[in-house]
Amino acid sequence: MTNPSLPNMTSRPRIIIVGGVAGGASAAARARRLSEDAEIILIERGPDVSFANCGLPYHIGGEIPDRSQLAVQTPAGLRAILNIEVRTRTEATAIDPERKTLRIRQLDDDTEDTLSFDSLILAPGASPIRPPLPGIEDPRIMTLRNLQDMDRIKEAAARSRTIAIIGAGFIGLEMAEQLSAPGKMVHLIELQPQVLPQLDPEMARPLAIELRNRGIDLHLADGITSFSSGEDAVSACLASGTTVEASLIVLCIGVQPENSLAKAAGLALGARGHVVVDQWQQTSVPGIYAVGDACETADPILCKRSAIPLGGPANRQGRTAADHIFRGDKALPYPGSLGTAIVRVFDLAAGVVGWTGKRLEAEGVSFQSVVVNAPDHAAYYPGHSPVDLKLLWSPEDGRILGAQAVGRAGIDKRLDIIATALRGRLTIDDLCHLELAYAPPFGSAKDVVNFAGFAACNIRDGLLHPIPSLDDAFGQIIDVRPPFMVEKQPFPGIPNIPFSQLRKRLDELDREQPVFTICQMGKTSYQAARVLANRGFDARSILGGANHLLD
Ligand code: FAD
Repeated sequence: MTNPSLPNMTSRPRIIIVGGVAGGASAAARARRLSEDAEIILIERGPDVSFANCGLPYHIGGEIPDRSQLAVQTPAGLRAILNIEVRTRTEATAIDPERKTLRIRQLDDDTEDTLSFDSLILAPGASPIRPPLPGIEDPRIMTLRNLQDMDRIKEAAARSRTIAIIGAGFIGLEMAEQLSAPGKMVHLIELQPQVLPQLDPEMARPLAIELRNRGIDLHLADGITSFSSGEDAVSACLASGTTVEASLIVLCIGVQPENSLAKAAGLALGARGHVVVDQWQQTSVPGIYAVGDACETADPILCKRSAIPLGGPANRQGRTAADHIFRGDKALPYPGSLGTAIVRVFDLAAGVVGWTGKRLEAEGVSFQSVVVNAPDHAAYYPGHSPVDLKLLWSPEDGRILGAQAVGRAGIDKRLDIIATALRGRLTIDDLCHLELAYAPPFGSAKDVVNFAGFAACNIRDGLLHPIPSLDDAFGQIIDVRPPFMVEKQPFPGIPNIPFSQLRKRLDELDREQPVFTICQMGKTSYQAARVLANRGFDARSILGGANHLLD
């Protein structure tokens, strides 16, 4: 018997969800809120459901001392609160899309069963990459995905004096921070020439400085070629010839979608193996949905496809899938993921939203960018610290394409503002007049986000001729910082004409040649370039300033 209020559904529809953590648990909760009648079965390979994977590094480091805090929900809790059937230690092994059945295996006794479904939601996530390198099978080389991995790493870390983290992306950085402790040596090894390769190099540079200042041994632009096992330690052999010995090695080099079920069932997969879904998270087979790290969705900025393995997208996609099952086209479609991500590295935070310069260049998309720097709150109020914000936009229509930020405070706020701007398809002009909360302890009358808009509009309108780096400058370069700053961080061979003296010393400059101005953070060099331009010089301002150029 069909229920006319539900699209193509029996009166007691059976919804099976594979994967009981971020996307799966979210789908289950939303499904229950939309129907008290539906039979909801959650299949989870591990012993836990709905745990906080994002919190795992912080229990390892001791910042979340109580392990039970990581269990957002237990199987019993889900049963009680949502009235759903939770089958842990159970693996989904095959889907028959024609018959609408799912084959499952109970891992404790190897018994198998076949369940029929009206709708199936795949939320199997992504597994950490473990490359087939010689020696990789040593049990002291670990990965972090679930509570059991966490326990193993925590235990091993407690007895290790030397630890190597491979991969300096978001999770690698969190692990490096959390595992560094007095008396421990932490090596951080990264194939790319920068930490946090998800950011443009100049925005990640302050993180490398912070890591080194905290005693982390950074090995950049160096990849692992093999491991060899010794009695007390594993040796990680790097392409440069360096060998790093450690009694614990944690691989944080990315994830790959768990796609074996989808692949065997003939669901359409994207170029990197993610399950292709539409705006309802529905796969190429109606009635079968995929959410979270295992799927790829539309990229809302450039209308391409993208796979973003993050907690926020997984949770909201789970909600979308459940919505579509019960509400059909009345459900709110998933608009695609922006990739808003942030990490704390000791006293610094850094993050990204949307597209970076590196990715835009690789895709051949034309863009412009600027880096601005301003205090997180009023500079006259105690405790302020600088925020570096890089903004990228389309030269065709001024639409924002992405942003990155780094600093000690207020980084999350600026990324979230730009994320909202991206969702609203705002332009650089819109950023100039965003009216943001201001009282001295919280912000400034002109926020760094406004400044990014001002600088971008100045570039578009020809009022600022930006030069990406000192390497792009030639001939006549002047350092317009006050002498005390020059003394601290001199640029050898570059004459100093402090901004306060510039108007009186114009005759020291050759009007026939362009003048490149540089300062500490980019702002004074812009102001100096405006003075020069107004006096008839061809003036160009070097972006970012000394902060971005000197390690
Ligand atoms: P998961 O949450 O991984 O859940 C998938 C579940 O499916 C797993 O429990 C798995 O056992 C189960 N499963 C797989 N195949 C089967 C099968 N065949 N049968 C039964 N069960 C199966 N994201 C952020 O946004 N911010 C962060 O700070 C952040 N930090 C992170 C830190 C760590 C250490 C990790 C590992 C991830 C972090 N993430 C973070 C990423 C975020 O956790 C994931 O993007 C999110 O959990 C993905 O959700 P999911 O539902 O797709 O997969």
